[in-house]
Amino acid sequence: MRGHRHSTKTVNNKIMKHELQLPRHVVELISELQNAGFESYIVGGAIRDLLLGRKPKDFDISTSATPEEVRAVFGRRSARIIGKRFRLVHVIWEGDLFEVSTFRQAPGRSNTNAKHDLPGNLILSDNSFGTAEEDAFRRDFTVNALFFDPVKNELIDFTGKGVEDINNRVVRAIGTPQVRFEEDPVRMLRALKLVGQYDFTIESATENALFANLALLQLSATSRLALELEKILSSAYGDKHLQAFHDYGLLPFFLPQLAAAWDTPYADYALNLLNERNCRVREGIYRNSVSLAMATLALPFVERECGCKVGELWQPGPDSTIAIRDVLKWLFKPQTMMNRMTLSAERMLILQPLFSDKKAKEKLINTKSYSHARELLLIRAAVAEDEIEELERLWPVAIPHRHNSPRQREKHDRPPRRRRRKYPTST
Ligand code: ATP
Ligand code: MG
Repeated sequence: MRGHRHSTKTVNNKIMKHELQLPRHVVELISELQNAGFESYIVGGAIRDLLLGRKPKDFDISTSATPEEVRAVFGRRSARIIGKRFRLVHVIWEGDLFEVSTFRQAPGRSNTNAKHDLPGNLILSDNSFGTAEEDAFRRDFTVNALFFDPVKNELIDFTGKGVEDINNRVVRAIGTPQVRFEEDPVRMLRALKLVGQYDFTIESATENALFANLALLQLSATSRLALELEKILSSAYGDKHLQAFHDYGLLPFFLPQLAAAWDTPYADYALNLLNERNCRVREGIYRNSVSLAMATLALPFVERECGCKVGELWQPGPDSTIAIRDVLKWLFKPQTMMNRMTLSAERMLILQPLFSDKKAKEKLINTKSYSHARELLLIRAAVAEDEIEELERLWPVAIPHRHNSPRQREKHDRPPRRRRRKYPTST
């Protein structure tokens, strides 16, 4: 998708006439809210990505309607209010899921923080409604705070810096960077994702505050950090995110084991495997399975645990199964990945050495995890620069049966929607 920077005409210093190519149903959803009398915009990452000429992952909607009013517009069957500390509405519209949230203002300071020995600025609750402008200023970075009205074709840059920062690819905190990182240390991780994924640079005051506050990341709720890790692993740019975390010194506070091993050939191999998985996701060859990403990162460390050289697979057997389990737990600590994903990663790792035994072919192909394990096999082969076509023929794509259809498998690997609440990460 192309951004239409040249068509931008300023209406006043914050509002610009602008055209963006948006899916028809997204515009309809906004119209629906506007026709019911509510100010409504597409916000956040989608607008940033469109202006960068990238395809947005999803569309976050921000509106003056309260969650109950949103539910009344779309009906209880299509709209569900989720979250407690950060209430928003999941709206199913033409088969797609949208997160619709009410304009909120920056949260007040919590006086419970001192009691719990937490930094005074750390945000524990984020639920007071506000205006569109207030909603823009409670967001993290200028490039994430642009609002777009697809009915009027108006782009609103409340901070006055968003468009300029997108054009220059700069991450700039809104307000005082030190305070913003203290309020929510996960913002540091979010800044570095932009650095890794889009080659942004960090504006100097924001960068200084980031360097000064890296260790604060450990104070974030474990559930949020686990969710971030899940998003990074499901993204097609996770290896780039991890590289940026390492370059800026954040990795020891997020994935300490990977950080400690970073300069070893095992970590190098792990990043290469993840990079190959990501290339395949970007090319549309593979879906964005979190468990496959976990397995790519863990595989080299299983080799190490089993006393093998880099790229030299272990012998199958009970000892290696224990090693696989241990490594999967150890590598992602202190974050805890969902059991379902860990088990799936474990199964595809266990099958890897079996691919060298052609006699076991029939049995292997009929194993539940074969498709997943085959993907990992091909990733390994691509990284080793082996002849891959031959291997693809030898190990054909499994014929989907009832429990192995792409839809079922996708479901199996994806967290249930209920858990995708994003406090206070969301829009
Ligand atoms: P992605 O492409 O990964 O979805 P995103 O910027 O849209 O990137 P979301 O988690 O979907 O990320 O958040 C949507 C928007 O909500 C962000 O663009 C930003 O404006 C706001 N936001 C998210 N997390 C925070 C946070 N921790 N602090 C302040 N604002 C946030
Ligand atoms: Mg988003």
